[in-house]
Amino acid sequence: MSKIVELGCLCGSVKGNINVVPKSFFHVHCLCCDCQRFAEHLNNSDKILDDHGGSELLQTYPSYVEITEGRDKIRGVQLERKGIYRWHTACCNMPLANTMTNSNIPFVGLSVKLMKFSNDKEKTEILGPVTMKAFGKYSIGDIPKDAHPRFPISFMPKILGFMLKGLLRGMSRPSPFFNGKEPIASIDYLFKK
Ligand SMILES: [Zn+2]
Ligand SMILES: [Zn+2]
Repeated sequence: MSKIVELGCLCGSVKGNINVVPKSFFHVHCLCCDCQRFAEHLNNSDKILDDHGGSELLQTYPSYVEITEGRDKIRGVQLERKGIYRWHTACCNMPLANTMTNSNIPFVGLSVKLMKFSNDKEKTEILGPVTMKAFGKYSIGDIPKDAHPRFPISFMPKILGFMLKGLLRGMSRPSPFFNGKEPIASIDYLFKK
């Protein structure tokens, strides 16, 4: 059964909600160096990353995510020339989500930290366990036992199936981060253009 979960940034200025629809999301943990760089860029690593430098994400379709308040506080960055857009708040410097630069791609990786659960039990009931822990080779300290050193190939067919279903059903729109093809906020480019 799908569940609507409220979203809120650390300071409460940015609010919204997400529809968590079974079989239409992945609950993942990313230990990659870019997620860590993003947290450093926001100057908030201790609030964003876990002990291993990991970020918890809910990968789903953009049309399931809605920002209802504080849209003017949203900013975007791109760490690499061909990299994804990483969206964050300007009020409390917290990550919001990752998207592709092409608004037609039905993918958003939302920061689980935004999701408001009443307790851990409710969180587990709605999100289930983490299904993939990727890029363990970048982890701070020991690689967590359940982490894959890079990206598990076995995950590819699942992601492709998810993308195909999303494309066929037009799940890339509406997106909280794009007006049509245009990003809703200015993007900071952290590489030489
Ligand atoms: Zn990452
Ligand atoms: Zn905030």
